[in-house]
Amino acid sequence: MSEVPKAYEPGKIERKWYDFWLKQGHFTPEIDHKKKPFVIIMPPTNITGELHLGHALTATVEDVMVRWHRMKGEPTLWLPGTDHAGIATQVVVERQLAQKGQTKEEIGRVNFTSLTWQWAKKSREDIRYQHQLLGASCDWTRERFTLDESPSRAVRTAFVRLYNKGLIYRGERMINWCPRCRTALSDLEVEHKDIVGHLYFVRYPFTESEDFITVATTRPETILGDTAVAVNPKDKRYKKLIGEHVTLPVIDKEIPVIADDAVDTSFGTGALKITPAHDPTDFEVAQRYNLPLVDIMNADATMNENAGPYQGLERFACRDKVLADLENRRLLERIEPYSHSIGHCCRCQTMIEPKVSLQWFVQTQPLAKAAIDAVRNGRVAVLPERFTKIYFDWMENIRDWCISRQLWWGHRIPVWHCRDCDGLTVSIDEPLTCMHCNSKQVIQDPDVLDTWFSSALWPHSTLGWPDDTDDLRYFYPGSVMETGYDILFFWVARMIMMGLEDTGDIPFHTVYLHGLIRDENGEKMSKLRGNVISPAEAINKYGIDALRFALTTGTTPGNDINLGKSKLESSRNFVNKLWNATRFILRSLDTEQLEAQTTELRPQRIEDQWIDSQLNRLIIDVTGLMEQFQFGEAEQQIYDFVWSKFCDWYIEIAKIRLRNQLTPSPLPFLVNTLEKSLRLLHPVMPFVTEELWQSLKQRLSDQSKMPSSIMIASYPFADHEVFAPEAERVMDSIIEIIRSIRNIRAQYKVKPNKEIEVRVYTDELLHGFITQANVVETLAKVQPLTILGRQERETTKDKALVLVLKEAELVVPLAGMVDHRAEERRLIKESEEIKGRIAQLESRLSDNAFLSKAPSHVIDRETQKLTSLQDKLKRLQWELSQLMSPSADN
Ligand SMILES: [Zn+2]
Ligand SMILES: [Zn+2]
Repeated sequence: MSEVPKAYEPGKIERKWYDFWLKQGHFTPEIDHKKKPFVIIMPPTNITGELHLGHALTATVEDVMVRWHRMKGEPTLWLPGTDHAGIATQVVVERQLAQKGQTKEEIGRVNFTSLTWQWAKKSREDIRYQHQLLGASCDWTRERFTLDESPSRAVRTAFVRLYNKGLIYRGERMINWCPRCRTALSDLEVEHKDIVGHLYFVRYPFTESEDFITVATTRPETILGDTAVAVNPKDKRYKKLIGEHVTLPVIDKEIPVIADDAVDTSFGTGALKITPAHDPTDFEVAQRYNLPLVDIMNADATMNENAGPYQGLERFACRDKVLADLENRRLLERIEPYSHSIGHCCRCQTMIEPKVSLQWFVQTQPLAKAAIDAVRNGRVAVLPERFTKIYFDWMENIRDWCISRQLWWGHRIPVWHCRDCDGLTVSIDEPLTCMHCNSKQVIQDPDVLDTWFSSALWPHSTLGWPDDTDDLRYFYPGSVMETGYDILFFWVARMIMMGLEDTGDIPFHTVYLHGLIRDENGEKMSKLRGNVISPAEAINKYGIDALRFALTTGTTPGNDINLGKSKLESSRNFVNKLWNATRFILRSLDTEQLEAQTTELRPQRIEDQWIDSQLNRLIIDVTGLMEQFQFGEAEQQIYDFVWSKFCDWYIEIAKIRLRNQLTPSPLPFLVNTLEKSLRLLHPVMPFVTEELWQSLKQRLSDQSKMPSSIMIASYPFADHEVFAPEAERVMDSIIEIIRSIRNIRAQYKVKPNKEIEVRVYTDELLHGFITQANVVETLAKVQPLTILGRQERETTKDKALVLVLKEAELVVPLAGMVDHRAEERRLIKESEEIKGRIAQLESRLSDNAFLSKAPSHVIDRETQKLTSLQDKLKRLQWELSQLMSPSADN
């Protein structure tokens, strides 16, 4: 029988058990139509960069759910996968090329894509390895990548179906444009930053008179694209001017003054310039009044032919030139400082240009309706519930979704343009000819789809849709979608829309939103602050189980998590506590053979009844909490039970019996509590529980009945027969009595092995207390201990402490408890030492030579030292005065 090592070294067992689980095939579920499966489709990890703590959190929360359901005997599928992450990946590979002095245009689309595939392959291996490192029990045989053939066919199929229904169209709409990446971006890919800029007040002269109207703008270069000036029809200042015409300064073009209710009279002068091709609000105004769109910029944000004399200038150079020209013509009235929020490309930090552009769109309103209903009528539950309000707000005001990207990395849009008739052929498979004129001159649209398009299909595309596969029939819809609350709209809402659209069914029953991870002080983790903890670093230092426990304990869905050194350390201490408790029990089993079947025994002694009853309560509470997705609280309760009730109390009490070889032996109850605690903890601490459970199994005589791994052992269930409220009442009081005595001993600085006298008075629990006398005597070092009924209490004149507890009174005579003389000598000695050091410091700090030479921080430090010594002396002297008149303590 192998000895369990003295200290827990996580690194030595983690890989061993992961490989064992993989080899046993426990991660791959069996389809059993008699049982309802539990299914989580893992959010596909972006193939860019290393896994951070957010990934570790996702993996842990999902693994906790998955391991728990698997232990409950449900066929459990956790399907892992990765996302090609369109723009994010393309920018990374472009940067690598740039280091070699190359651009993607120089090497061409084919070479660039194959280079990106190489990166993807390597990156996917890293991600798989890191998930395995975290203990993720996912089914690697079903692993998917968004660009795999099957999910790609799902993407093309969904596109074609939406197109044929008239829900995908191509049109000129306002989008976010990154001039560096030269692509449209989703709102999620735009980071807003507050910028201190300027508000320029520009005069637009009337064509018919000498007068002018002043408008305010933050982007004067867009004047070149203005097609109207708008005022509010209720604004008295401008009423007479509606319908007049003004001349655009600098390019002398005539534009009308129009009235629109959307104009905010309090912004600037109340008169707005309307630039439909470069501002979302202006675009909408232009739609209402049929104003022309004048796009003044090229893809790289240089000015195009519509900018007249400014053609060829870069956008900010153009701004300077326009301002200078306005100034020369005396049309720049004034400039005010102005802070506003400006979008930047989240991949390259270039300032976004809102711009009208010819793109592909999904008309989302018809899709949103069903998705709103699914949440409203409870078919999809969102946790925490407060996010449903945000979901409805967003879905009810949903805008069409721009799905085309001018990138090379991603799913090509399945549309072929005909050179002969200009017709479009939209097809799942590559067409040989144009469907309109049969011409062979068809070329595929160069754009790719927004990454979120394939992610939106993830819950069904991973299971084989559009084919009618066994997996799709059995595992769809999934059970839980677990992800961060920050992508509720970009991803979760779209999965619900597309799942309903493609399959007619919701993609999952529950959306579990986890919070963001912050540092110990609640600050956002960032490289700049230097407070980032990498999962690899935490694993090396504390072990995987401790990291998983720290990430999930005490957390609730939707709330941010503070994680720092102290939480990781306390988690590691917990793992060590469990390790040491198990070692003790295993050693006891080695010396004292456990009788077969004794684990089935009903407890006779109060403390055994108590631990059984408490464990049972724990199982009920934990099961209830897990069912309500309160994993953090469930883990906290297991922690409290194992640390305090089991290790600090029950094991300590059991030691007394084992030492004295009393019968009945507590061993069956030690083993039972340990074994069930390990199973309760397995979902969050898979490695250490497997290691300890296997060691325990080796030593049990009926081990043949135990499964091959704790991960397929059943999760503990409650047994109402073992409830023992009376035993719980007695033991709660005994613990309170021992704690009180220990406090008194600490307060009076009683030496650890000195015994003190205690008298306990109670009525109802008298008998129970008497059975525990030995426990109180041993654990609180009491001698003599008297336990009596309340009517037998005598009044004495001795000095004594009287404590009134929940079920008993405690009388502790003070005489002889403390060796006053020794204590006095110790305190006096310490006081004298401190006085000497104070004198030294005082003389130093009054020495002018020192004060004039020493740097100020040294003087500060010495002054602080002096204050703290003076404080210590004061407290020592107070303790001395207490010692001389102990009655003052009563
Ligand atoms: Zn960019
Ligand atoms: Zn054609």
